[in-house]
Amino acid sequence: IPEKFQRALPIMNKLQSSGFEVYFVGGSLRDLLLNKPINDIDIATNALPEEVKKLFPHSFDTGIQHGTVTVVYKRENYEITTFRNDGDYLDHRHPENVKFVNDLREDLKRRDFSINALAMSPEGEIIDYYGGIEDLKNKIIKCVLNPYDRFEEDALRIFRAVRFTSQLNFSLENNTYLALKEKVSLLSNISIERIHSEFIKMMQGEGWQKGIELIKDSKIYEYMPDLQSNSIEKILNYEYKKIRFSDEVLIWAVLFILEIFPANQVNRVLNKWKTSNEIINNVNEILSFCQKYQKGILDYHLVYGLKRENIEKGIFILTKINNLKLVNNPLREYDLLPINSIKDLKITGNDLINEAGFKPGVHLGKMIKLIESQVLQEKLENDHRVMINFARENNV
Ligand code: ATP
Ligand code: MG
Repeated sequence: IPEKFQRALPIMNKLQSSGFEVYFVGGSLRDLLLNKPINDIDIATNALPEEVKKLFPHSFDTGIQHGTVTVVYKRENYEITTFRNDGDYLDHRHPENVKFVNDLREDLKRRDFSINALAMSPEGEIIDYYGGIEDLKNKIIKCVLNPYDRFEEDALRIFRAVRFTSQLNFSLENNTYLALKEKVSLLSNISIERIHSEFIKMMQGEGWQKGIELIKDSKIYEYMPDLQSNSIEKILNYEYKKIRFSDEVLIWAVLFILEIFPANQVNRVLNKWKTSNEIINNVNEILSFCQKYQKGILDYHLVYGLKRENIEKGIFILTKINNLKLVNNPLREYDLLPINSIKDLKITGNDLINEAGFKPGVHLGKMIKLIESQVLQEKLENDHRVMINFARENNV
């Protein structure tokens, strides 16, 4: 048993010696068998949440109604969930009620895909009731039991299927694919926040082109805000195949550059997607950088006031997506700027009032702008005394 799982063994043993069954379950086993980095370790048990809490004083409720208690042990959090089966699903997303059960097999049955339905005993024995190991070998995403039922119960699984296809670079098993296609309209029950996060995870995966193909072929795009019919295929260019998108801001910027989303409506579209303002601002910065570059603006106006990482992403787009050969290196321009924003000036409006005889108002604002541009053009030194003298001499 690998180190990360071993660290949880004292928790497992405590449950076992109190007479409970306990297993590692879910994504961590999938990642273990794929030799991928392991995120959080999920544990399942037939102990009821109250019993888990009694055994572990250092624990807190995370989703008690779903049977999950988080136990803190040696500074790590472990989610311990009582074996359950999900009652009827009413809104195609949330089970109406969950029922605690005594049997691991019942618990694994409610999980989405065979590769996510594996379990491992504390002794290291792998339990595989639904063919997960075979599907891992064959690189296949396949629903547990009947895929039509699975998607009908919880439509988020439609997007999870696409996401795992990309993240693991697997294929969708045919019957699962047919069911997904048939049930796609149930995505209208899924919140934009969930679609957003699954979509970004999908785009960050190695097989993102497969994910896009799926979104296109099964018309999932109809449930993604503001996609221009199936313009999403514009990103399926052979030359982009090797590109990996690690970063959400870059993903959005590329989608606007390719006009997969309407290019001049960044704020409106991204607000619909419930994207954070910080991300929206960064996307706008990158897009305006690319626009300026293509208009031939190469002096300080191109890079002044931007974040360095946004310039890097802009360069990525110009070279890798627009296939331009750059005539200068905007990052070098940026690094050579005397100041990167007005805050870097060693003078303030107050200084001009107190030391150079200015009064608050338009005139003062104009002088600060003038000083800023003089400094940027290296006609004036960013030195307090020098700038005060300049302001006095030019105070007309
Ligand atoms: P990752 O954390 O890397 O995104 P994961 O497989 O751990 O992947 P989680 O969302 O953390 O995914 O869920 C943990 C486990 O719970 C899954 O492996 C799966 O067994 C089960 N699960 C999660 N969401 C669903 C769902 N919508 N339907 C059925 N089972 C699910
Ligand atoms: Mg997880």
